Amino acid sequence: MNINWHLLSLSEVSEKLETSPSGIDEKTAEERLVQYGKNQIEDKKKKTLLQMLVRQFRDFMIIILVIAAIISGIMGDLTDTIVIVAIVIINAVIGVVQEYRAEKAMEALKNMVSNVVQVLREGHRIDIPAFDIVPGDVVILEVGNSIPADVRFFETHQLKVDESTLTGESYNVEKNADSLPKQEYSLGDLTNMGFKGTFVTNGRALAYVVATAMNTELGGIAKMIQTEATLTPLQKRLASFGKRLSMVILFICLVIFLIGWLRGESPYSMLIVSISLSVAAIPEALPALVTIALAFGAKRLVKRNALIRKLPAVETLGSVTYICSDKTGTLTLNKMTVEGIYETFDKKYDTIFLEGDILLHLMALNNDVSKDKTGEWLGESTEVALVQYASQKKMERAELELKFPRVAELPFDSKRKCMTTLHQIQNPSSDQPNEIIVIVKGAVEVIFNKLTDNQKSLIPELELRVNEMAEKGYRILGYAMTTLPNLPDKLVSNEIESTLTLIGFVGMIDPPREEAKQAVSQCVEAGIIPVMITGDHKLTAKAIAEKLGIITSEKNLVLTGIELAKLSPTKFSEIVENVRVYARVNPEQKLLIINALQSKNHFVAMTGDGVNDAPALKNADIGIAMGINGTAVSKEAAAMILLDDNFATIVVAVKHGRRIFDNILKFIKYTMTSNSGEIWAIFLAPFFGLPIPLLAIHILWINLVTDGLPGLALASEPAEANIMQRPPRNPKLNIFAGGMAIHILWVGLLMGVVTLGIQAWAIHSEIVHWQTMAFTVLCFSQMGHVMAIRSTRESVFKIGFFSNKPMLISLLLTVSLQLIIIYTPFFNEVFRTQPLSYLELVITLAASSIIFWAVEIEKWVFRRNTKNEKLKVEKKQ
Ligand code: ATP
Repeated sequence: MNINWHLLSLSEVSEKLETSPSGIDEKTAEERLVQYGKNQIEDKKKKTLLQMLVRQFRDFMIIILVIAAIISGIMGDLTDTIVIVAIVIINAVIGVVQEYRAEKAMEALKNMVSNVVQVLREGHRIDIPAFDIVPGDVVILEVGNSIPADVRFFETHQLKVDESTLTGESYNVEKNADSLPKQEYSLGDLTNMGFKGTFVTNGRALAYVVATAMNTELGGIAKMIQTEATLTPLQKRLASFGKRLSMVILFICLVIFLIGWLRGESPYSMLIVSISLSVAAIPEALPALVTIALAFGAKRLVKRNALIRKLPAVETLGSVTYICSDKTGTLTLNKMTVEGIYETFDKKYDTIFLEGDILLHLMALNNDVSKDKTGEWLGESTEVALVQYASQKKMERAELELKFPRVAELPFDSKRKCMTTLHQIQNPSSDQPNEIIVIVKGAVEVIFNKLTDNQKSLIPELELRVNEMAEKGYRILGYAMTTLPNLPDKLVSNEIESTLTLIGFVGMIDPPREEAKQAVSQCVEAGIIPVMITGDHKLTAKAIAEKLGIITSEKNLVLTGIELAKLSPTKFSEIVENVRVYARVNPEQKLLIINALQSKNHFVAMTGDGVNDAPALKNADIGIAMGINGTAVSKEAAAMILLDDNFATIVVAVKHGRRIFDNILKFIKYTMTSNSGEIWAIFLAPFFGLPIPLLAIHILWINLVTDGLPGLALASEPAEANIMQRPPRNPKLNIFAGGMAIHILWVGLLMGVVTLGIQAWAIHSEIVHWQTMAFTVLCFSQMGHVMAIRSTRESVFKIGFFSNKPMLISLLLTVSLQLIIIYTPFFNEVFRTQPLSYLELVITLAASSIIFWAVEIEKWVFRRNTKNEKLKVEKKQ
């Protein structure tokens, strides 16, 4: 139903809605609730638990796993079937839990609408939950209420609404019940309509509900922003790599089966071994485990004030090369104090403001600040600072409002960079009774452009004074005014904000955040370039950027929005890497900045808070919204929300992102090397004339316990010491590059050879426990391996054996379980193992430690090489 409610007369509205000013009756309400549904913003991709569960089984590797389970079940080996099915179910349940949790987090974000609303039903005032409201309901709205649905007002009393959640503009829109003339309107101009998710800041009203739930404007935005859930880049890569690897592994298993069969082993047992090996070696759980690691990381990040909305952000945080941040509130405290004022001493309007200082009058009058019950100032921090200053000088807003009541206004918008209030003179003794005063405050260059020709000649002189203040990092707001004989019918900014007389300007300080300074230097060390984006003056922005360490040399450029608009995309991308500050830019220009940086292969994190920032937030590699001052729309569009609006939190999140990714890589390295070890051992045995060293149940045991427990504990590994001293990871880089593939192959080969060596030696020495020894060597080798790869670079002796408690626990647990299998008669039966003698156990342990030492030597060689390279580079310089 697409009706232009704002154009209709009130009787037409009530007729169409089949309602009246006293509301609908309960029965109709119930019927409409069934017809229109609950008044809730729905997530269209919301799935049932069953759908979530089914989705978990779609993975190619998991299908193979299930087939293997069925085959082994048919062959009568129920243990295999049970174990395999258990893995699949555990995986699926973990997946569902994660997905469910993510959905819950999304829902929490949308909970911005008040819960209980007052409505009139058959003339009676009742409170009902906001989600039970239906079209035709009459809602009663008062100051502080959130508007629960899209409404058409039919009775208003000094009603003002804050629509910033929808339009991003932080001013109050006056509303009334009048029908609007037929023409095109933007959302912000619909003065007789109220929208879901906006707030009443003044007055009260009665209104008809015209649309609920997804039919509201907010619902429309939510619909636009809802995108399909996608796999993270790493998961995509792992999934496609996994498929190819599965083929290779299946082929190898086939070869193993054939060779074994030809060598005279029983084809039945060879088949079981080959299937088990394929089950064990195919890294089926990797994508699911990546999700767990990311969700686990996201949970930790919330504690550090970074709320992740899109899981891939956790993974990609480590790749960020540019952080483009808003200035006010993110890099600075957003706590403004007036530091200095400059007045022009124009005598023209002295007769109006008999009480004295004109500039103070304007400061007290032109703002949307109010006081709460406790006397605390409420409003935008820039304006609060100005009103407070005037108040300290005994110029009280409340008193002045009586003499010069506000009759109209042109609210602030970040594109015009100014705001205007119109006041009627109430003092009949004045020379100009009932004249209208126009007060304009805004960015000082904007004000300069609106002055009378007479005053324009003063601009060069005035600019010197402005620059003096701006160079100290002050935010400068200019004040100008004019008078009109009467209130114009239509307020057109170009007409009203012209031929003004400058009254003066005010310099305010908004101190940089101390922690932002440290975060900036951390960024630089970590190879990330911090960039400031602001609507503020070029010199102010530059001064603050210097204080924060964002600008450190002449090469670091400051570009204004106007300069940026003049550059062609190619010209811009030529210089974009040198720009550290963008001043006087519009939110729309953020998109240009992202495009230029991405064209240079950068990975861009971008902050934003307004509705106009939503496209930039969506297009950035990581869009970051503000939790405190951000609009709902920006939060919806972002991948991450800063709960404390603080720049330093972004850097903390990057550090965590790098650590989480490191640990995921370590996990992949660990499991793949273990798998490679098993394959080598079984594949090579026939070539050395040895029987297959392991039974199927041993392979599955290693896969489940030995691989699983310590592998998971790798997620708890603390950050590497150099984590923020190394360059960002190139997101396009193959994860197996940088030595990982070689490591998996050679360490796996060594594991296989050591296992076969022990097997050969034991058989040669006529030790009947050769199989238990080979099995245990393979198992313990992996314990040594996981310990050694806890750090990619540093020796375990340096990072300490006890610095990852979960790892220690899981190692103790795994070793204990292995010993139980070797030394308890029951498990000797199940796993066909035998108790090892003391000497055999010592030999087994000694052989297993070879892997640990080998990987430690690998890291030592790596450290020595990088050190030598560094020295060479330093010498060259
Ligand atoms: P950021 O640094 O995060 O971009 P900003 O406050 O500098 O925030 P805007 O809010 O877009 O950016 O403001 C742009 C300019 O408009 C400010 O630098 C200031 O000169 C002017 N301005 C800001 N608030 C007001 C206001 N309430 N009334 C008049 N002018 C304002």
